[in-house]
Formats: sequence, structure tokens, C-alpha cells
Amino acid sequence: MAYSYEAPVSQSLFDRASAVTPGGVNSPVRAFRAVGGTPRFMVSGTGPYLTDADGREYVDLVCSWGPMILGHSHPEVIAAVQEAVSRGTSFGTPGEGEVALAEEIVARIEPVEQVRLVSSGTEATMSAIRLARGFTGRAKVVKFAGCYHGHVDALLAAAGSGVATFGLPDTPGVTGATAGDTVVLPYNDLDAVRAAFAAHPGEIACVITEASPGNMGVVPPADGFNAGLKELCAANGALYISDEVMTGFRTSKAGWYGVDGVRPDLMTFGKVMGGGFPAAAFGGRGDVMAHLAPAGPVYQAGTLSGNPVATAAGLAQLRLLDDAAYAKIDAVSAELRSLVGDALTKEGVAHTLSAASNMFSVFFADRPVRNYDDAKEQDVFRFTAFFHSMLEQGVYLPPSAFESWFVSTAHDERAIERIAAALPAAARAASEATA
Ligand code: PLP
Repeated sequence: MAYSYEAPVSQSLFDRASAVTPGGVNSPVRAFRAVGGTPRFMVSGTGPYLTDADGREYVDLVCSWGPMILGHSHPEVIAAVQEAVSRGTSFGTPGEGEVALAEEIVARIEPVEQVRLVSSGTEATMSAIRLARGFTGRAKVVKFAGCYHGHVDALLAAAGSGVATFGLPDTPGVTGATAGDTVVLPYNDLDAVRAAFAAHPGEIACVITEASPGNMGVVPPADGFNAGLKELCAANGALYISDEVMTGFRTSKAGWYGVDGVRPDLMTFGKVMGGGFPAAAFGGRGDVMAHLAPAGPVYQAGTLSGNPVATAAGLAQLRLLDDAAYAKIDAVSAELRSLVGDALTKEGVAHTLSAASNMFSVFFADRPVRNYDDAKEQDVFRFTAFFHSMLEQGVYLPPSAFESWFVSTAHDERAIERIAAALPAAARAASEATA
């Protein structure tokens, strides 16, 4: 597919990057392979806008894949970072910032009695799984097809996000021995979970699930699904791990737990809690967390864990996320969903808008989407045409049909009007697209 617009500076940066970095990027989905064309190299962000190296401005509906929930360069977050950085960047000792961030997390999310800070969502889920195995003395982990929990070896089987985007069934480099203890089940299917517990009595350490999946597109849990998982885990001596890296501090003040109230044994967090810096966490039941070194025998560590600049950014961001902020994000999301739905309907494009609180995505199919197989049954070529039309008109969408769209408190009327103005042509492009 040829595109009628160019990005010469981004293209030359991409050429330089491709010479020294595999595929030219440091995280696969950024390379635009699913949609084609030149990835935009961004140079700055303010509020709901990003500016690329060619000087073009975009309304940003990716928000760094979730973290920038207050928009870019929020003055209070920037001030907190500047204050922290003026005192030094890393000490390798405990510091007050990490205590304050841990206290904020524990205060917001009732099932979290203790929390350990790490630097990425991947580290959080990897550590939570190790802890669950150490605590239960069992090996097997249940995960769901289409759920992405970072690039943890044992969790890459049938994963969503970039793995879904590239249609990779499995990843070379993950050995059979590592993946052999992972049981992959269809999402939203409690009977499959029951059958797995029956097939592996006393062997399953934990069930890990995205609290509300956003990595196969947005596919919320069916009524009672998370509660059913919790019950089955409790009945079988396994831990229920809710991965809130994406939903945490986004879908409500207490993340998805604040929406469905199902109490996990362990939870994982990232994205929003770092304010745009590498900070993540896992936490939960005090008796389980007590097994973590140095309190207990399960080893886990990190040179930059609880980094003072990252924790200052995260804390400043969380403290600004009050009820009014969530009401604003929810309202922006609802308005956008209705604008997108109207534009696609007007052009006769088959679609399903799928939302979980303020996270949403568009499936180019007119069927309900309950799991990964459903998500894959869509006209991805229509998304590609839609994406490029929006990009050309200055709206930056996730460059994949299998990702959530993210909004922020900074998406004001002007930004929404710009999106609204771009939608009719993008919907037409989707309608005219051919496979
Ligand atoms: N878990 C979920 C639900 C995620 O969405 C992600 C990343 O998108 C991760 C874990 C991994 O986080 P990170 O990319 O910070 O390693």
C-alpha cells in the first residue's frame, strides 16, 4: 500500500535506527509493521498532542500505551521530576519516595497489603509468578490466549499485544521446558479452567489474567468470569493473579479492582504508576508477600527498583488522579466512542466498539468479541486504511488492530474536535479498503 504523505525526517531516523537496532525500534509494535509506512519519531509532547521530527502535530490516542493519563508534560509531574532529579538520579539505597509510592498504592487498592517496586510490567508479572510458585510449591501456571503479561518466557505462549499483531504462535528462544508448565486456555471460558484444575490436581500454582484484557483489543471479562476464577483458585489451592499493568490506576482510582471488586491474591501494576518513567510493582496478600526476600526465601531484586526520579513522577501523577480526573477521562472516552461509532455506521463499515471503563478499541467486525479467536476474526485491512487516514489527518492511533486506545485528562474539546473532523474520511477509507 502506498501512502500519499511523507515523513522524510522520521524516515531518515528510521534508516539510521535500522542500521544499529533490530527492526529499527526498541519495542516491536512501534515499527508500524502491522500497518506499513514509516514509524513517526516523536520529539515532544504537550497535553493531548505529540510532535514528530518532521514538525507535524498529532492528537495522541496512544498515551505511551497507557502511562500518560494526564497528557504529556503535565506541569506538576515535570516539577516533581525536576525537584527529584536535582537531588540525584539513583542511590541504590532505600529512599522516602518509594515508601510514599508504596503507601499510595496500598491506600488505593485494598487487597494490596504489601507491595514491591520493580522497573517494568514484565518484571512485575515474572516476579509474581515466581512468588506464586515459591509460595505454593507448585509449577504450573494458567494463562489465557490473547492476554499479554510482558515478555516473560513462561507467559509468551499465545500472548496478545505485539505477539498478536505479528501473529506469532510462539517465540523461538522459549524452551519447551519453560513453556511446558504453562497451560493456555480460551479467555472467558470457566469450564476450560475447571477442566484444567481437574486435569492437573495439586499442580497449578496460579491463574494469571489481565484484570480486563486490552492486549487483544479490549475484551472485558464476562459477568462473573473473574469471580469464578477467584473461586476456582481458592477451591484448588492456587493463587489468583490479576495483572493490572494496563488497567491499574486507569479504569478507576483502584483500577479494575475498583470496577469489579474481585479480590486477587496478587496483583501487578505498571504504566500509570510510573508517570512515564520505568516503574512497576507487584503486591497483594501479606502472607504471600512475606515469602519474598529478604523477609522470605523467594529471591527478587533490582538495581533501579524504587528509583527516586521514577517514584517522584509516579507519585505526582497518582496524587493528581482524583475522582474528577477519572470522571473526565470516562467522559472523553464515551464521547470518542460515540463519534467513532457514528462515523463508521454512516459509511456502512461493520464494526464493534468494545469498552472496559475508559479503555476501548474498535473491532472491524459486527460480532461480539469474547476471546482471542473472536478478536482475530475482523477485517484488519480496514483498520489499516482507517489508521493511515487518521495519521495523515494528524491523529495518532495505536498502529495495530489488537490494541486499546488510550485517552487522558488533557483531551479537551479542541483535541476532540480535531479527531471528529478526521473521522469521516477515515471511515470512508475503511469502507473502500480491500483485502
Ligand atoms: N501486563 C500487561 C497487561 C501489559 O499490558 C503489559 C504491557 O503492555 C505488560 C504486562 C508488560 O509491561 P512492560 O511493557 O512494562 O514490561
